[in-house]
Amino acid sequence: MALAERAGINFEVVNSHTTADAPETVYFIREQFKAMEERGIKCSIVMPRYKDKPVSMWTLIPQKLMPPTRLVRYCCDVLKENTGKNRFIATGVRWAESARRKNSRGIMEVMHKDPAKRIILMGDNDEKRKLFETCNLKGKMTVNPIVDWSDDDVWDYTHSEHLPVNPLYCEGQKRVGCIGCPMAGRGRQREFMRWPAYEKMYISAFERMLDVRKAKGLPCDWQTGMDVFRWWMEDDNISGQLSMDDLMEDNNV
Ligand code: SF4
Repeated sequence: MALAERAGINFEVVNSHTTADAPETVYFIREQFKAMEERGIKCSIVMPRYKDKPVSMWTLIPQKLMPPTRLVRYCCDVLKENTGKNRFIATGVRWAESARRKNSRGIMEVMHKDPAKRIILMGDNDEKRKLFETCNLKGKMTVNPIVDWSDDDVWDYTHSEHLPVNPLYCEGQKRVGCIGCPMAGRGRQREFMRWPAYEKMYISAFERMLDVRKAKGLPCDWQTGMDVFRWWMEDDNISGQLSMDDLMEDNNV
């Protein structure tokens, strides 16, 4: 956003409200949107919907019959990647964030459900550039202008331009996203200690997920939402859990 504003281009800012972000992040976004709107920048917060109805992480889990996992991140599809239709999107994705991003993200991208139809440009002189510029695929077109920035680059730029910072980074958090995100690995334990109400909401959603599984006659070896939570947190002491293959089959993945 800061780069777009300084470049003097026409743009608008959209936030997908995931319902699982930390309260501090939600308040920070609201404050920043208010300040940007006062500078004449159009800002909007998109509330998630699923099957034409409002949804949250806590009502989505029972509908999907399984917890979100590293392999099945249905929550991103529904809660986070639900905007940008027919728009050219700019993100803050960076290669330094993960090995997966280093291998799968580029400076510019046309994403498509069919991996064979994706176009990912890894640099300005990429020979696929012409293909990108003439692309008429029905994919999401994305530019990632800071994809090759290191963490130090981001902080140097933030400090030199006096940009506002989510207060959670000032507390020492390295990653600010949905609380309990399965991609956050062991960091989730720290998150649930910091925001215990979210642990309760996940356990309650897992309870309701088990109720739906039982009502549908699906295998249900877990007894309680807490059993599911401990499996989900990769606590190896739980026995009798369903395999990922079983869960993906139940969910038609
Ligand atoms: S929890 Fe993780 S995978 Fe799910 S929507 Fe949030 S960022 Fe995406």
